[in-house]
Amino acid sequence: MQKQTILFNLDDTLAYCNRYFAQVIDKFAEQMTVWFDSVSIDEFKRKQLEIDIKAIGKHGLASARFPESFVGTYNFFCDLTGREKNKEETDYLRQLGNQVFEIPVEPIPYMNETLTALKKEGHELYLHTGGDEANQQRKIAQLELTAYFENRIFISGHKDTTALSDILKTIDADPSMTWMVGNSLRTDIVPALEKNINAIYIPAESEWAYNVVDIELKPVSAYYTVGALYEVPDVIHRHIEGDEAI
Ligand SMILES: [Mg+2]
Repeated sequence: MQKQTILFNLDDTLAYCNRYFAQVIDKFAEQMTVWFDSVSIDEFKRKQLEIDIKAIGKHGLASARFPESFVGTYNFFCDLTGREKNKEETDYLRQLGNQVFEIPVEPIPYMNETLTALKKEGHELYLHTGGDEANQQRKIAQLELTAYFENRIFISGHKDTTALSDILKTIDADPSMTWMVGNSLRTDIVPALEKNINAIYIPAESEWAYNVVDIELKPVSAYYTVGALYEVPDVIHRHIEGDEAI
């Protein structure tokens, strides 16, 4: 079989991520209803999401952005309702936001089996994840991912087409035999299609609004959507064999 170069995303592709953010955001919104009884849970969540996504343009995917979005939301509603800002409360919110970076991550079902199967077949596996070094390394260590990726790990603060392009230059692989596998249309799939490599999209159980975009370009290379991570080896094999029924 022709050896392929396969780049995997980490968060919500190999291990759960969005669910931990959702848990902490729920706690945040509940706390906020105690302080601002005229505002609904949904309004807190909408504002937090807006502030969080806005900050990506400036700060990229750095971890501190998330707890700061809690403080920003708190400040917004203090200004709106005339409630006095309180340092103890903002300290508490930062601490709450940071809890998301302490929750042990769980692998997506069949993560180890999927990566083992691809590795055994001789494909070269890379990890391309967005976020900051410390938090992503924590998860990589917990999941023991260096068993599959060794030093072929890229952590990008801004995970976009430029970041992917730089990685592709570094690894110098044939685009027709290179794949990006991920859950994010915005940060995994669009960059892959723009760089004319193959892409496999695996929708997450619940998706962060930031990751959802319309695909407007027509793929030159292969582009598949699968329901689960464990389907990836079969799709790649069938593609190599020229199976048109995938
Ligand atoms: Mg992801």
